[in-house]
Amino acid sequence: MPDKQEESVARRDFLSASIAAAGASAAVTIAAGTANAQGAPAIVGGPASGTVFTGDTIQGKRVVSALNVNDLEPGQKHRFYFQGVQMPTGQHWYVSVTVAKGARPGKRVVLVSGVHGDEMSSIHTVQTVMNQLDPTVMSGTVMAVTDVARPALEGMQRRWPNAGRGVDLIDMNREWPGNERGATATSRHAGQLFNRLLRPNADAAIDFHTGTTGFSVTAFNIAPMDEPEIRAMVELYPVGQVFNNRIYPGVLPNALIDVGIPAFTAEIGAARVLDIEMISLFVEGTMNVLKHHGILAGPLGRTGKDVSVFIANSALPILATHGGLVEHLVKLNDKVAAGQKVAVQRNSFGEVVAEYSSSVAGEVAGLRSDAMSEPGNPLAFILFNKATRDDGEAYSE
Ligand SMILES: [Zn+2]
Repeated sequence: MPDKQEESVARRDFLSASIAAAGASAAVTIAAGTANAQGAPAIVGGPASGTVFTGDTIQGKRVVSALNVNDLEPGQKHRFYFQGVQMPTGQHWYVSVTVAKGARPGKRVVLVSGVHGDEMSSIHTVQTVMNQLDPTVMSGTVMAVTDVARPALEGMQRRWPNAGRGVDLIDMNREWPGNERGATATSRHAGQLFNRLLRPNADAAIDFHTGTTGFSVTAFNIAPMDEPEIRAMVELYPVGQVFNNRIYPGVLPNALIDVGIPAFTAEIGAARVLDIEMISLFVEGTMNVLKHHGILAGPLGRTGKDVSVFIANSALPILATHGGLVEHLVKLNDKVAAGQKVAVQRNSFGEVVAEYSSSVAGEVAGLRSDAMSEPGNPLAFILFNKATRDDGEAYSE
């Protein structure tokens, strides 16, 4: 059961969102009511009306259960813990929030990492950008939320261990915009973050990721390039590939786009490690984005114009048909021709059991990095162009 304080916050959010909906054509989304555990009314995910301090302090950081960056002192950096969903012990999953509030008003950009728990370069990218910001010379605000799926991060694993029927592993990047009355803690955590932290403070947002454990990717961005405001940001990154697709419905950028906030996914190499060289490309691109929005002054760094960028609207997954050791015949970023052999697989006797070819011409964006594979594992993703884009493609962002 929610406690009294949470109830009152929920009611207040409901009220302010209802007022906003009545007063304007604001794109207020009704959180999905399909999994409504207590028969309570679904929370309406409207902009939070203000910052709510719980009164708690953890490791010197004040705790908030709702945040409006407009309430914060300008020209400073602020650090909070946001109170997320409760654990089975009754304690909360807190997530780390850093706000660089400019001395002058302006656009608000939100940087997110840790939606998956094994993607360390995404966290370091956001931290590096935040550490370079000087709020006294900024016009606008940058908010960073670096450890969204806390329980996944604690185990450095992709998915959230949920105590439902024994431990289920839930991919938090299929949950957005979440549901504060949802049937899992993961869904509720997503709903709380979306309604009270991310959406109310974003004029634009970037969700940073990497490949996943056992599967490495190149440096690229995933974005619907037919959206001009999103395209303008993506083109400011000096990285060599763009996957022009909306991919899964439940990813965070799609939930933000659906409420009118331009957003995209950045992909920064392999999971579990810091790829400092690749991180620097995304730091440079993100600083460009902050200049593009007028938050920072000064000339742009390198952009997509300074590198060769392959933009493709589709991703071909090449799936293993057998078990065995996989040897790749191509490298990340290689161009491949239709029909080109990309991998060979051998059984425990060293006999070749499968050879894998690309059916399309394109570029290699991802390769399985764990050499052992069972049938059904993606061995490679090939970016390529179809005549017409199919959104919702299967891609393990
Ligand atoms: Zn990810």
